[in-house]
Amino acid sequence: MVIKTAEFIESNTEIAKLPLATLPEYAFIGRSNVGKSSLINMLTNKSKLAKISQTPGKTQCINHFIINGNWYLVDLPGYGFAKTSKTNQHKWQLMIRHYLTKRENLQCVFVLIDSRLEPQRIDLDFINWLGEVGLSFVLVFTKADKQSKSRTQAQIDLFIKKMEETWDEIPPLFITSAQEGFGKEEILSFINGVNDGYVVSDIVEK
Ligand code: GDP
Repeated sequence: MVIKTAEFIESNTEIAKLPLATLPEYAFIGRSNVGKSSLINMLTNKSKLAKISQTPGKTQCINHFIINGNWYLVDLPGYGFAKTSKTNQHKWQLMIRHYLTKRENLQCVFVLIDSRLEPQRIDLDFINWLGEVGLSFVLVFTKADKQSKSRTQAQIDLFIKKMEETWDEIPPLFITSAQEGFGKEEILSFINGVNDGYVVSDIVEK
């Protein structure tokens, strides 16, 4: 897929105010600092697009972007930020869980994992919750340029091994580097494939 246009639409904290659920939607989420903004910029060819989500007042919001006029990319607030208070973390959880479970046009959640780290409890807990509520997701391993290919593969193998303790099937996974631009074609063609099978009437009739 070629990205011709990528535009910010709006930031929300209230699910009722989200854009109409008429286009297929893909949500990006991960721990703070995982490389989410860099990945979104890399995917959309806009070096500052996700900066919008990082401006004051928007870091805790659900940020919608429209891509090529026919699908939504959603930048969700990062989780596991140590400096956030318990009350804020709780608020975050409620909002995100509400969004993820109620958004009827949501096609897939892109869970970003830092490829340099050992499997993190917070990522595994989040993934397990996605499984409990029956949401489709894929794994995106970020910052792969920071280490050798074999080291990245070893880290991914560890993550999968950990997942296999509770999962029978492993979801699709992507290895990416925002710095070197790899993983982009794979992610965009995955989204393209899902978009091709998207039936608008399914949503409209709801
Ligand atoms: P966010 O908090 O998840 O949005 O993370 P950012 O995209 O702001 O990235 C956090 C830090 O990691 C920044 O210093 C980025 O420059 C760096 N970073 C992000 N992605 C990559 C990558 O693919 N390769 C390298 N080497 N650094 C990255």
